[in-house]
Amino acid sequence: MTAPDWFDKGRKHVWLPYTQMQTARAPLPVASAAGTRLRLSDGRELIDGISSWWACVHGYRHPHIEDAVRRQLETLPHVMLGGLAHEQAYTLAQRLAALLPGDLDHVFFSDSGSVAVEVAMKMASQYWLNRGRRRVKFLCFKGGYHGDTFATMSVCDPDEGMHSLFKGALLEQIVVNLPTNAAQEAALGELLEQHGKDLAGIVVEPLVQGAGGMVFHDPFTLQALRRLADTHELLLIFDEIFVGLGRLGDAMFACEIAGVQPDIVTLSKALTGGTLPLAATIASRRIHEGFLSDDPMHALMHGPTYMGNALGCAAANASLDLFEQEPRLAQARAIGRQLQALLEPARELPGVRDVRVRGAIGVIQLDGPAPADRLSESCIASGVWLRPFRDILYTTPPLVAQEEDVAHIANAMVAAVSEWSADRAT
Ligand SMILES: *Cc1c(COP(=O)(O)O)cnc(C)c1O
Repeated sequence: MTAPDWFDKGRKHVWLPYTQMQTARAPLPVASAAGTRLRLSDGRELIDGISSWWACVHGYRHPHIEDAVRRQLETLPHVMLGGLAHEQAYTLAQRLAALLPGDLDHVFFSDSGSVAVEVAMKMASQYWLNRGRRRVKFLCFKGGYHGDTFATMSVCDPDEGMHSLFKGALLEQIVVNLPTNAAQEAALGELLEQHGKDLAGIVVEPLVQGAGGMVFHDPFTLQALRRLADTHELLLIFDEIFVGLGRLGDAMFACEIAGVQPDIVTLSKALTGGTLPLAATIASRRIHEGFLSDDPMHALMHGPTYMGNALGCAAANASLDLFEQEPRLAQARAIGRQLQALLEPARELPGVRDVRVRGAIGVIQLDGPAPADRLSESCIASGVWLRPFRDILYTTPPLVAQEEDVAHIANAMVAAVSEWSADRAT
């Protein structure tokens, strides 16, 4: 099969993410996409089992989002938010404030998840600085992932991530295991008794640690963190960039499911339905009030050039319309039930440590590093695009995926792991 000309010519110039460029297999050229399907340049069609890094929740090229972006393109593709205002960003901010629980009412826009977390960390630190207290460190968790920039790397899992490479260049944070019972909550309380005064806040991915390996925890953990944050005067930051916006099925946001009110929330990935880069950091009224002052230096010191991009905000508003008009949460729950049933047989296979499902996230965890190339090739041969990492093969399908698509994905996963498991045994 011959690759398109643009691919052959561009290949030596495009530096790929997380990729050893000397040995990596070539990426698959994609010509177009629609619904749950990617159409490759060679004519093959793949179901996207991971929604392009968890973003494409309504499927590709949803006409409602396409129309909104097209209309925006014809009136105002972008204008700076410093000193100027536009309808899409102002409407989106209102809608996010209304959608998030409690008084999470103040929206700061940016253009990627990492930057949204950076802004949350800066907001928390500056909140304390504005009150004359120097509290700039964070409590964060093993298995956590919050982005690839320097500040966000410092709150990622120190062993799993890129920490060791950049030792010395990163802020030193306090990294602990997530507390899962009362004894662990008490132990963490003692730690905070000693170090709490230096900390600005706690950064956590609520209910599911995504890039750390799709590891789940219970609402208890988040309730414990809220109690500890209150006792030790720490700001609680929920990074909902992966789980927020419907992925968990029971509600739009993990904080609602856990019944916990964070002080700051970050959103990105599914915010525009996977069409355009956009992110938001949303703060409670108390945090926002901590910046109101006669002192210009008390203003939040951040301002990305493309913040609140009008095309991105138009896409996000259209995406929120779809959440209102179509039964996305019910669809996510149905996908979860189906994955639960169809992935379960993998549990018995030698080499499989765990099978787990939460919301529209289905995971087969192996007992060691996943043979990523082999598993992904096997799934591609079955017509499914998946990207195994660490010790897992997982799916996060578009929430519009129909029963046949979900079955197709789950069966491809089980088949890929079965073959690998059988070969390993001989
Ligand atoms: C993906 C992700 C990020 C980083 O978002 P980018 O847009 O890739 O910078 C941060 N936090 C969580 C929980 C994520 O899943």
